Amino acid sequence: MVKTIDEILEQSHFSREDVIQLLQTDIVGRNKIYTRAAQIKTQYVGNKVFYRGLVEFSNKCVKDCYYCGIRAGNSNTIRYDISDEAILYAVKYAYDNKYASVVFQSGEREDKAFIKRITNLLHKSKEITNNEIGITISLGEQTKEVYKEWFDAGAHRYLLRIESSNKELFEKIHPNNDRHSFERRMQALRDLQEIGYQTGTGVMIGLPFQTIEHLADDLLFFRDFSIDMVGMGPYVEHSETPLYQYKDLLLPQVERFNLALKMIAILRIMMKDINIAAATALQAIDKAGREKALKVGANIIMPNITPTENRSNYLLYENKPCIDESADDCSSCLEARISIAGDTVAYNEWGDSWHYKKRVNL
Ligand code: SAH
Repeated sequence: MVKTIDEILEQSHFSREDVIQLLQTDIVGRNKIYTRAAQIKTQYVGNKVFYRGLVEFSNKCVKDCYYCGIRAGNSNTIRYDISDEAILYAVKYAYDNKYASVVFQSGEREDKAFIKRITNLLHKSKEITNNEIGITISLGEQTKEVYKEWFDAGAHRYLLRIESSNKELFEKIHPNNDRHSFERRMQALRDLQEIGYQTGTGVMIGLPFQTIEHLADDLLFFRDFSIDMVGMGPYVEHSETPLYQYKDLLLPQVERFNLALKMIAILRIMMKDINIAAATALQAIDKAGREKALKVGANIIMPNITPTENRSNYLLYENKPCIDESADDCSSCLEARISIAGDTVAYNEWGDSWHYKKRVNL
């Protein structure tokens, strides 16, 4: 007997078939999922949104991911590296504006100079904020020793998207070499969790070759891995990347966007106490994309606080929003948009993942 959407939504555990059925729902079913996700969000994590001020401090990258605009092979990208001083200025900006947390993200590098620079930046960021700023880093695959060094220096959350939990699909969207190994990425996630980071991952939604079954397996992967935080958004094609040749295989952008919202809502229903970010890529397709994500389960927003002159060069995908606004413009429009979505911004609170706190018995 096929279950109804209402029956599935009443369950507390979901099989692969259940998740696939939820992902395949029509508009009526979709609205039921959204309503349930909104209820669960209010009940388990509340209607608070936590800010993570995002500093995209460099687009220099040694990797060649087929989907990404800042891949090493894209010679049309102007490479930049923001000075330590400017990064720390952005940290101070976040702190003074009560953001409570920042995220450092960049292209991937594993050289010694880079590693030491990050360690130093982490120490300095704590120093200039009375030891109070919360720090998430998103700096790709590193050795366990490096992850530990950065953890000891003050980073306590790490974002490393698995991109796809399906090895075959992962291998279709990355070059086939040691630098882009599915196993290594998976090991990196395990290392992060073992060291004690609040561990975040995610996937792109609407990739060429991706099926509903792949997406269902991604959601089950997050659950079975007991992940603390998820950031996932639509895949947005970039014309200077190898994956662009498959653009005719893609769902229309609006459908990718809707699928991403559905993924967020189903994830909130499956993992009630995690932190879910409203990814910037949502906003690239729909101006109110992040606010729509808040309505169906997301509870984290990462306002871009990268100094404006560098923003237009951190183009992972095309149509990236807000690249010509300063951090101040962004924060004033954002608060109003969040309140329209029915949430309030939780200033001066770290907003750690409840899932993490339970997982490590805090
Ligand atoms: N180098 C770091 C972080 C930078 S990229 C790392 O690998 O962790 C951050 C995220 O942007 C990636 O994990 C990927 O999921 C997303 N991204 C890259 N290209 C994209 C595209 N074309 N469309 C949507 N998201 C993209």
